[in-house]
Amino acid sequence: MKKILIVGGGTAGLMSALIIKNIFPKIQIDIVKSDNIGIIGVGEGSTEHMNEFMLFCNISVKEIIKETGATFKYGIMFDKWTKHPYFHNITSSVNHIRFGQYPAGYAYAVSNDLNPKEYTNGHCFINKVIPGDIPFQFHFNTFKLNDFLLKKCKDININIYNDDITKINTNRNNILSIESKNKKYNYDFYIDCTGFKKLLISKLNAKWNSYKEYLPMNEAIAFPTEDTEEYFPYTLSRAMSAGWMWRIPTQGRWGNGYVFNNKYINAEKAKQECEKYLGFKVNIAKNIKFEAGALEKAWIGNCVAIGLSSSFIEPLEASSIGTTIQQSFYLIHNLINYKQSDIDRYNERFTDIVENIRDFVVLHYMVNKKDSKFWKELKLKLPESLKQNLKKWKHRLPIAEDFAGGYKLFGPYSFAVLLKELNLLDKKSIKKEYEMLSKKHKDYTHKHMKKHAEYTYYNKNVLGHKETLKKIINEI
Ligand SMILES: Cc1cc2nc3c(=O)[nH]c(=O)nc-3n(C[C@H](O)[C@H](O)[C@H](O)COP(=O)(O)OP(=O)(O)OC[C@H]3O[C@@H](n4cnc5c(N)ncnc54)[C@H](O)[C@@H]3O)c2cc1C
Repeated sequence: MKKILIVGGGTAGLMSALIIKNIFPKIQIDIVKSDNIGIIGVGEGSTEHMNEFMLFCNISVKEIIKETGATFKYGIMFDKWTKHPYFHNITSSVNHIRFGQYPAGYAYAVSNDLNPKEYTNGHCFINKVIPGDIPFQFHFNTFKLNDFLLKKCKDININIYNDDITKINTNRNNILSIESKNKKYNYDFYIDCTGFKKLLISKLNAKWNSYKEYLPMNEAIAFPTEDTEEYFPYTLSRAMSAGWMWRIPTQGRWGNGYVFNNKYINAEKAKQECEKYLGFKVNIAKNIKFEAGALEKAWIGNCVAIGLSSSFIEPLEASSIGTTIQQSFYLIHNLINYKQSDIDRYNERFTDIVENIRDFVVLHYMVNKKDSKFWKELKLKLPESLKQNLKKWKHRLPIAEDFAGGYKLFGPYSFAVLLKELNLLDKKSIKKEYEMLSKKHKDYTHKHMKKHAEYTYYNKNVLGHKETLKKIINEI
């Protein structure tokens, strides 16, 4: 393996290039991207995998905050989905209150019917940040992130070409070369990061597994709004009449959008609904139609698809960039001496990743909302894997073992919050199990849950989000 060509210079192309080049500097990695086509220009929330990417590629928090307009993301605040807002946090200390795999913190929260303020990142409910306890996941301005990653690629000798690819030459399962009007590209291995176009992998007869029977959303509008005095330290996901709206703070402007089912609303009406909520006019910057799903095989022959070319579930839970990072990390373990068995295993893991996201996202829609035609008529079909897990999780909380296989984005704690807040657990069973714990275990859990609430919700030593960002930017 001497030369890899990545086609596509969006977030997926640049991140996968950086991950591979950082670990295998001797491999020549070139990127060809089209400035005529540009990038999708949405995707501004990350998961905690962003932190792993940054550590791997030697990117500091200060750089990300300074260069990409980044703000902190402690998680996602879900408003109007249930009776009161709930918070899917990812880095809460409650995750560590456990015995073996037994999630004692969550069992305590369920048994005592705790409000999300008391067992998730409580400071987010008062719009504050705890200094020194930043979450290592971010919101960023996608265009600034693109410029920053491009610079990082150039710094480590990744060559970037601006060219429009028009022809893919294949022999059954392999790419022989690709061509633009004026140039032929001949490499050992190809990565398809061409977004929804799937320019390369589609020529290798890749099959798309649609998830549209499970997931109701199929269109989105995105629009920026002006900077504000202060920022939420989270992504806001607000249920709307035919879907949900996101609000993401970035330094200089907010990124917003409405993801909807276009049988119930169109882009113009969606925009008007957002305007009514925000109290001012907005201009649609992007209107994107999509179909939730993933490739049956992301890796075929000498080509692997990463990013939107391989999968897209929907933006709820901001899982796409995290998938790119996980796919690239798994790829580097299989790349150099790959055989068909490695390709097969890669594709199995890839399916694990996307089905985990699919199931987690479907779970969010298991709400008891009846306040519009869309929500009234919503009849969810559950994937078999989720159905089986829900049976299991009715009487016991999820544990790590339920998510074996590595590389999945969402684990027991993410699911636990949703199961609790959506009333999908049999509280009596969870409480019965919790009550069976020894006094020592219960005392420990009680003490640490109280500490957690004091540290997050009742902590007086909190700062404004903007102030914290400023401090980090000005640090030497
Ligand atoms: C509404 C919406 C909201 C989203 N929100 C989030 C979020 O909050 N968090 C998250 O993680 N993800 C989110 N995503 C997904 C996110 O946008 C993508 O994961 C991310 O932008 C990476 O995209 P990409 O690089 O795969 O594709 P793109 O950005 O589309 O890049 C494709 C690249 O291929 C190049 N290209 C295409 N055709 C050719 C050609 N013929 N010749 C040469 N080059 C070519 C283009 O020029 C471009 O450089 C969202 C997606 C949507 C639709």
